[in-house]
Amino acid sequence: MTWPEVRDAVAHGKRRVIVMLGAMEQHGPHLPIATDTYLGYATGERLARRLGDALVAPVVSIGYSVGHLPMAGTVSIEEPTLEAVIVDICRSLGRHGFHEIILLCSHGGNYRALRNVLPRLREEHRDIRISAITDFDEWLEHTKKFAGRWGLDMTRLGVHAAQGETSLMLAHRRDLVQMDKACEGFIGDASIRWRSKVPPPMDTMSPTGILGDARGSTADIGEKMFADRIEQVARMIEQGTLAG
Ligand SMILES: [Zn+2]
Repeated sequence: MTWPEVRDAVAHGKRRVIVMLGAMEQHGPHLPIATDTYLGYATGERLARRLGDALVAPVVSIGYSVGHLPMAGTVSIEEPTLEAVIVDICRSLGRHGFHEIILLCSHGGNYRALRNVLPRLREEHRDIRISAITDFDEWLEHTKKFAGRWGLDMTRLGVHAAQGETSLMLAHRRDLVQMDKACEGFIGDASIRWRSKVPPPMDTMSPTGILGDARGSTADIGEKMFADRIEQVARMIEQGTLAG
């Protein structure tokens, strides 16, 4: 959009703006490094269309991915840097008339920085609603329920570059998915990765970089995941329950 288009859209009722926090980190041998950023755009756009009164800000394309640094091409910023980026983005958007800024992660490693920075944002923007999902476990629980509903195995749907993300990418950007290289990765309890401040290097846990199993991914699963998640988040926004 051009700047006058953004100005007019806000004036005519696009009162919310969605800020997605993505990443530039390895996603196995079959998905692009920018997967979380592509999925950030896909999620932001679908959510904005569902809400009807929201615009999507540029996705933050680099996040906190320190555990993935052994794999080539991964670019990570430290959590205080990410927090500063979030503060500056909200300060910018806060000038343009939005009533609500919605902050969402399309990369699990960004949750803690978002959680840390929320009090500062709310202190600075008393006249703007700052909404966020800051709990990775909430996402995990929701994904488990989704898996149960559709008869999918959560250990294969996985949390990183597995059936879940691969299916989402097949739905959004099939041209960037190399299904012939999709394989099984680490199968088991990977929660140490998001329970520790500095997660163990990914290559010690999964030499391919996959947590779960990328085989069996389909665009149909991806469309169902998008629809399910977008509807859930949209309802939370409409009900004002995105307290963070
Ligand atoms: Zn990802």
